[in-house]
Amino acid sequence: MRAVVFERYGEPADVREVPDPVPAPHGVVVRVEATGLCRSDWHGWQGHEPDITLPHVPGHELAGTVEAVGALVTGWRPGDRVTVPFVCACGSCASCVAGDQQVCERQTQPGFTHWGSFAQYVALDHADVNLVAVAEELSFGTAASLGCRFATAFRAVVTQGRVTAGEWVAVHGCGGVGLSAVMIAAACGARVVAVDVSPRALDLARKFGAAECVDASMTEGTAEAVRELTGGGAHLSLDALGSPATCAASVNGLRRRGRHVQVGLLPSASGSTPVPMARAIALELELLGSHGMPAHAYPRMLELVRAGVLRPDLLVTSTISLGAVPGALAAMGSAPGAGVTVIAPWG
Ligand SMILES: [Zn+2]
Ligand SMILES: [Zn+2]
Repeated sequence: MRAVVFERYGEPADVREVPDPVPAPHGVVVRVEATGLCRSDWHGWQGHEPDITLPHVPGHELAGTVEAVGALVTGWRPGDRVTVPFVCACGSCASCVAGDQQVCERQTQPGFTHWGSFAQYVALDHADVNLVAVAEELSFGTAASLGCRFATAFRAVVTQGRVTAGEWVAVHGCGGVGLSAVMIAAACGARVVAVDVSPRALDLARKFGAAECVDASMTEGTAEAVRELTGGGAHLSLDALGSPATCAASVNGLRRRGRHVQVGLLPSASGSTPVPMARAIALELELLGSHGMPAHAYPRMLELVRAGVLRPDLLVTSTISLGAVPGALAAMGSAPGAGVTVIAPWG
């Protein structure tokens, strides 16, 4: 099969022929029809992800059809249309048994712990635990964007963030996950303040339901701007980018007893990120993490997509071939980019 491969961190990836994967006894191989390009792929390529071993094939947000099935799989057959959370759970550890597959103790992640979906085929573990059926009317391109960013944003806003109608929700960073969060929070009846350095990203945020926008490139104190626009601070605030500055701005933009949800990954040389904990104490803030979404939580989200309440299809801004991936990956460093790029490995 053809796949995007990199041999060294940060050096150009290339597209080459590699052996086709075979399914584990509990796993499947999926023919990749669409796969999203995400900032996590860039982090992986830069060497920020300790799970990766070289040479490596990135890609973790995918949709396609089941091609081959392991002997122990009971729920899936070749030809089934599927997507998968980026956290593939084991199904048997204490977290999985409790229903928290998104923090599985023995998780695998395509594109990180093993070769991913920037390829014509990808192997996925524990198919009966992790695969999600994709209805005929949902395109593969749209389904691919659910697997990471949209599902992550859904859990961050709805489950971890516990958003309610009428609340102010601040979203710091309006790339794929941030724009998804804007759309989901607005659909839940929240009033959304979108914060980003890019006017283009803010235009999209407005289109997806943001009531207010803060241009962080023009604004000295984004937290103060959020507090002013929301009459004292957001009830719920997300750092959807993942940087010390956006994390602090998110926490500092909250009102009393507000909830901060950290969604953007925070890779750093020191391994830690300073958080304004004094404010968390004085204002009784809640500081939460959010990590993907388990497969069993997808039906509720997919029903809102089917009903047209949520429109992940509007987030897809471009479709490229495998051959264009090395360049697109490199370009992400300087311009994270708004919206979602979908890769079509057979196109
Ligand atoms: Zn992703
Ligand atoms: Zn587990």
